[in-house]
Amino acid sequence: MRQLTVLGSCGAFPEPGRACSGFAVDWDGFRLVLDLGYATLPRLLTHWPDGRVDAVAITHEHADHCVDLHGLFRWRYYGEPGGPRLPLYCPPGVLERISGLEPDVDLHAVFDVHPLPGRYRVGPFDLTGLSLPHFVPNAGIRLEADGTALAYSGDTGPSPVLAELGRDADLFIVEATDRVGETSRSTRNLLTSGEAGCWARRAGARRLMLTHFWPGNDRSAAVSAARVEFGGAVLAAEEGLAVELESPAEAGRGRGAGMPRKPEPGLAPEDSRPRYQGDPVLLTVDGQDFRVRVRADSPGSYDFDWLSGPHDYGFGVSGRADPPRTRAEMEEHIRAFLAMIDPATGYIQEQPPDRD
Ligand SMILES: [Zn+2]
Repeated sequence: MRQLTVLGSCGAFPEPGRACSGFAVDWDGFRLVLDLGYATLPRLLTHWPDGRVDAVAITHEHADHCVDLHGLFRWRYYGEPGGPRLPLYCPPGVLERISGLEPDVDLHAVFDVHPLPGRYRVGPFDLTGLSLPHFVPNAGIRLEADGTALAYSGDTGPSPVLAELGRDADLFIVEATDRVGETSRSTRNLLTSGEAGCWARRAGARRLMLTHFWPGNDRSAAVSAARVEFGGAVLAAEEGLAVELESPAEAGRGRGAGMPRKPEPGLAPEDSRPRYQGDPVLLTVDGQDFRVRVRADSPGSYDFDWLSGPHDYGFGVSGRADPPRTRAEMEEHIRAFLAMIDPATGYIQEQPPDRD
């Protein structure tokens, strides 16, 4: 079995019934874990009931990516005393965070620590950790075996290193935090889902999995935004979702090859999606984020998606002799739309919530 299973998909803190960042990789019996955020350990022990793990890689020291490493430490320390040490690949800071929770025990009793960034042979994998921009040292992780590459960003701002990390990957897992106003921050340490799609395209990845969703975010809107930028399959990470990992040659074989075993959340059938031309424009007006796109079949028709709104909702401008061509004109339309929104419902007042 060669597959990736999602343990958790939330950024910052978990939504009810979900968990923060974490992924279990099964490769011909070898078991590797990528990140262990809040509430991932019980899911890991459900996935691997005997608790055997062969290696752990942690992208950075933020608790939503590493706090359940402490639980795994205790599972090994108290549950399997004297067992072999567990190889742990992580940037500086991770062990210090965990040792703050376990000040009386040397964590090296359980963990055999290897610093990231760096390159290592880990079981069947060549593991590469590359530095990516974040509030603290963060290592994106790339695993390669038998011509198949799996890559994972951890948390990151935009960086050309992302294209290197996910180069020709079968599956590129990229954070899509989509925090309100993210693109207008002076220092970028997180991505939008559109940017995740953009970097997956530049990497030449076959499939993109979005993850690290800010709690409450509309995940189907995130998938739609990524699809604008990336032509391959876009998956939304979902607790329990299992995705087979394949080499590019295997992926080309047979109908349905490479598809996940559960339906892909947030994907609409190909023929029901409008087609757009050119690059989308992302605008922030009065603190609200909008994506503006031109319909390919009707160049005078614009769709405005309210990315930061409470619903999958927006408005269109069409059939006009003078479509809004400048940024100022687009902002004018957005302000007029926001002025009509009923704060109680999040929709235009007295209107059914239809999208055009
Ligand atoms: Zn972080």
